[in-house]
Formats: sequence, C-alpha cells, structure tokens
Amino acid sequence: MKKFFINTYGCQMNVHESEKLAGILYKRGYIHARSNDDADIILLNTCCIRETAETRVLGNLGMIKKIKEKRPEVIVGICGCMPQKSGTADMLKKRCPFIDIIIGTYNMSKLDFYIDAVESGRKIVDIWENEQEMENVPIYRDSKFTAYVNIMYGCNNFCSYCIVPYVRGRERSRDFNDIVNEVRDLIEKGYKEITLLGQNVNSYKGGSPEFSKLLKALSNFDGEYRIKFMTSHPKDLTEDVVEVMASNDKIANYIHLPVQSGSDRILKLMNRKYTASEYIEKINMIRSYIPNVGISSDIMVGFPSETEDDYLRSEELVKKVRYNNLFTFIYSRRSGTVADKMNDQIDIKTKTDRIERLIKLQFDIGNELAKSFIGNTYRVLCEHINDGIGYGKSSCDKSISFNANANVLGEFVNVRITEVKNNKLIGVMI
Ligand code: SF4
Repeated sequence: MKKFFINTYGCQMNVHESEKLAGILYKRGYIHARSNDDADIILLNTCCIRETAETRVLGNLGMIKKIKEKRPEVIVGICGCMPQKSGTADMLKKRCPFIDIIIGTYNMSKLDFYIDAVESGRKIVDIWENEQEMENVPIYRDSKFTAYVNIMYGCNNFCSYCIVPYVRGRERSRDFNDIVNEVRDLIEKGYKEITLLGQNVNSYKGGSPEFSKLLKALSNFDGEYRIKFMTSHPKDLTEDVVEVMASNDKIANYIHLPVQSGSDRILKLMNRKYTASEYIEKINMIRSYIPNVGISSDIMVGFPSETEDDYLRSEELVKKVRYNNLFTFIYSRRSGTVADKMNDQIDIKTKTDRIERLIKLQFDIGNELAKSFIGNTYRVLCEHINDGIGYGKSSCDKSISFNANANVLGEFVNVRITEVKNNKLIGVMI
C-alpha cells in the first residue's frame, strides 16, 4: 500500500487543510507514513505569514531533496500560501527542480488530478487564483474527539504587516446550513469539541448578527460538547456574540483576541483600526458578561519604528489585561506588505531584547494566575492519555494534566486543580 506524509506549517487553518489533503489521499488508497523517509508522496503544506515558517520549509526541502535523489519515484508536492506569494513559485521551480507539484491555496482540492498528471510524467505549477475552496472533499481528521470546521476563508483587513489578504484572497463565508450540517454530523459521530475557523470569524457573512446567529444554531444539538472559534478581530467582536457565549454553556468561555501592540501610534501604523483603550473596553465588556472567561492574545514586538516607549505600552496593556495565554512574535518583513516598505526597521538585538522581556512578564503573570486556580474544579475534555496521565483543556482553554484511566479518553471529566509546576496546572479527577 502506498504511503503519504504531510509536513504542516503554520496555524490551525493549515492543520485542517492538511486533514483535507489526507482525506483526498486516503480516498486514493494511500495510508499515513511515519515520516518523509518511508513515504511515496511527500507534501509540504506551507505558511508564509512569518519568516520562520518559510525558512523551515526551505530547510526541509534540502532534506527532501536527498530522499528524492535516493528514490526518484517519490512524488514531492508543495502547497498552501507560500507558493501563492508573488514570485515564490518561480523561485521554487528554479531552486528546487525536484519538486513535482507546486500549488497555491486555491488549487489544493485538485490534488488527485495533479497526482494523475505527475504519474503520467508531467510537472505541475498551478497558483491560479480561482477562489475555489477545499469544500466537499473527504476529510481525514487527526482526532476522534476534537474537530476543526471552516466557516470562512480569506481576509479583508489588510493589516500592514500581514500577507494573508494577498495569498488567501478576500473574505468568503461558507453557507450557514452547510456549517450547521457539518457540525451536527460531527457531534452525532461523538466529537466533543468543534473549533470554528476563519481569519476573522466575527465578520462571518459581513458581521453582526450573523456570527452570533451561527453560534446559537450550533448550540442546539443534544449531548455534551463545546464550540470554540478563532480568530476574532477586536474591531469586529460584538456584544451580541459575547451575550450568546454567556448564555449558552455549549459555547466555550474562551476568546483569542489578538491585540498586536499596546501603542496607539503602532496600532495605527499596523492598520488595526482600534486604540489600546478601545481594546481594553472590549475586554471589560467580555468580562462583565463572563467573569471566568479565558482570554489569549498575540503581541508583536519590533514593528517598524517601535520605540522603547511604544514597547512599554504593550507591557502596560499586558499587565492590565492579565491574559491566560499570550503568543509573542518578533515582527518579520513580508515582501508585498505595506510595513515592508516602512523606514526605520528595528534591529534584531532590540527585537530579541523586547520579546524576552515580554515573555518573562507573561510567564510571571501566568504563574500568578495559575496559582490562584488551585482548588478550583474545571470540566476538562480528556484528549490524550500517556502513562496514566490525562491531558485536556477546560472551557476557558486552560491546559490541565491529571491522573486518568483509559475509560475517560475523549470524555468530559471534572478535575480539581491541586498544584502548579512551571505554569502548568495539575489536578485530580473527582
Ligand atoms: S486580520 Fe489582519 S492579521 Fe489577521 S489575517 Fe487579516 S490582515 Fe492578517
């Protein structure tokens, strides 16, 4: 039986797209390989949002070239947003002529057809922007308990540092009933946590109240399950969504709300369309409805012209909000974006110094928060068990480990927090 291995880079959107590529390959008779080394087809599902992901792809291609030299019959394909970026498909063709398939974000649903073409001796480069989604393709889901569901694709926001609107196109929302049917089907199959995916879920079908209507419709099924969603843009997260979350325990008490900076000057340069105080107001509004909500965020340091004072505003905001979790990034230049052309790019030493300080700040806040959770009991979905230790998350997205037996795998259990080690919550099942 032929085998495939998919190397996935980037966010949950890509992880889910790889599940769709896997579905296409299973239908074709392939099964999962353990690694690139024993695969008959190797795919790289790429991300170009950050420079580090792109560098990893190019590094991996060096290793895959050696596999192809030893086994020329192996099919190598690269897909996702990196080839979609202007000039990259040509660069890959020249630099890595051993690649058989180069396809962009719009063309991945035709993988089957491209493999046929390669098997008949052709090489494929297709980055045609026909806005065709990976819809109605088979999906091979990695988990039996948690699942991703796309609700929209693309983004209209054009944040000045971001390449997404250029490589994934403008916003397109999926049909309401298609989403409801997909989620119903997953719940009937026993899935317990469904994460709705979109670059900006709050502008589903143009924005409020469409997203809150969707959340309401998805919380009407029988059984215990929870719905999560990401990502929310602070300017588009509306009160009606928070009201639905607060009044319905099937919607998780968790919001990922990327702020990116605490400096109004930098937020303006980033084209984020809110100020730090407007962002804080939104956090206060959410907490007034859901006091125990879990909030996480993204913050970028070293955006062009960011001064020490701008950076300190980000620290100030983090101290005010006290996030449960913070994803920190160093700004990286993305060609084709507005920020790439800005003067006053920040040197790497300053960026590294700032990110280290921010990570330390968040670590200390996370540690204080974690200690305050000792004694609390959370409803946790047990996602993995290893050597008698279960791992899972609460509705407010706290990662918790606890003593567990095989019977609770994929089930909701009550866990009381008993200790904290390195910011990690440890508890006992009760
Ligand atoms: S909202 Fe901004 S950062 Fe997010 S995908 Fe759209 S352009 Fe990129």
